[in-house]
Amino acid sequence: MIWNLGSINIDNFYEVPHLPAPGETLAAVSYGFGLGGKGANMSVAAARGAARVSHIGAIGADGRWTRDRLMEYGVDTPHIAQIEAPTGHANILIDPQGENSIVLFQGANVQLTEAIIGTALAEASHKDFLLMQNETNGQEYAAITAQSLGLRVVYAAAPFDSFAIERLLGRIDLLVLNEVEAAQLLEATGQSVEALGVADVIITLGAQGCRWVSNAGIKQFDAYHVEAVDTTGAGDTFTGYLVAGLDRGMDMAAAIDLALMAAALMVTRRGTADVIPDLKEIQDEFG
Ligand code: ADP
Repeated sequence: MIWNLGSINIDNFYEVPHLPAPGETLAAVSYGFGLGGKGANMSVAAARGAARVSHIGAIGADGRWTRDRLMEYGVDTPHIAQIEAPTGHANILIDPQGENSIVLFQGANVQLTEAIIGTALAEASHKDFLLMQNETNGQEYAAITAQSLGLRVVYAAAPFDSFAIERLLGRIDLLVLNEVEAAQLLEATGQSVEALGVADVIITLGAQGCRWVSNAGIKQFDAYHVEAVDTTGAGDTFTGYLVAGLDRGMDMAAAIDLALMAAALMVTRRGTADVIPDLKEIQDEFG
């Protein structure tokens, strides 16, 4: 089972004729909204990858539907607390060239309490995984608690923050980063990923696939070749599926292969949580 301490956002999309200038009031051409946040995306991906996943997070009264949506996607939601704060949200302006401008309000995502996290992890077993990203508070407490219970701790270092990652390094079993985040980590710590003391590190490389760094050395995996139309959510899909594979007993190489297929299919689709492929769609596509 996977315990995912993660963000839940309402993504508001506005198509605009151009990105507004300072002082300008601009009418949007269209509006839409959906479920977002790296945490929610990874929970959906893990559930679609046939793992049992319980999301640990917080929303406000305005975001009750996000919890319902996660439940519809097969995610366990009893540890998503409703608190006195607005649900995290991203207001995303998109111009006709596809350029965007985003205002993010973290809201309830950064008001998690140790009681919310501790109550959830009290139900965990030593065979379980704790998955985290960097869009909530409480990671250090969660990692310490999970470690004391014998869970394997997986951290996707996004959005990158050197202070956050340095405090977690000794408590992580598997670290997942993209190429930009790996470069930021090297710059912040002066250490190569091999020297971090994390048993397994996976660096995703976009259309180039990924690299797995462990005690056994460095192994490169090619991406599946697809026609990419939208790479939003590719990394979240990769990580959710990776941990789902591991939780279902796959070895690292097999879990990486599954994650590469899921992420490749994801980049052929426009959208985020709502279009993350399920296992059957992956089998139909890649056999
Ligand atoms: P992020 O979305 O976090 O920036 P990446 O861009 O590295 O992460 O993408 C994550 C994973 O998604 C890659 O490791 C790869 O498996 C898959 N992926 C991304 N872009 C493509 C692509 N153009 N073709 C095939 N797979 C892709």
